Amino acid sequence: MSYDPNNIFARILRGDAPCIKVFEDATTLAFMDVMPQSDGHLLVVPKEDAAEIFELSEAAAVACIRTVRRLSIAVRAALQPTGVVVAQFNGSDAGQTVPHVHFHIIPRWAHAPLIP
Ligand code: 5GP
Repeated sequence: MSYDPNNIFARILRGDAPCIKVFEDATTLAFMDVMPQSDGHLLVVPKEDAAEIFELSEAAAVACIRTVRRLSIAVRAALQPTGVVVAQFNGSDAGQTVPHVHFHIIPRWAHAPLIP
């Protein structure tokens, strides 16, 4: 899939669009999801241009998973959910709506439905 440099996450990465940033290192950025499915719903994106995981370099993929793991641990400690979903979608048929690779971190609580 060709990469659209004007997608919203590319604009956030360039500082051209706002976000509530929760973490940043040399290769990844994490911020709050603007339409959270639960309290504490985070997104982790690579700084590398890649629409889907198939185009992502192995180094960037490893960096993303490192950030996802660290933030999942932090979210669990801070919010004490009873479960944490980590999800990543590729292509509109898989439910992807923003064409820049991203990982969802979605805290869950027993008996608490997702926010519609
Ligand atoms: P997808 O369905 O592509 O896996 O998820 C895209 C996610 O990006 C959705 O959960 C959606 O709420 C979130 N999102 C879309 N636009 C923005 C935005 O402008 N800012 C932030 N922080 N999140 C966004």
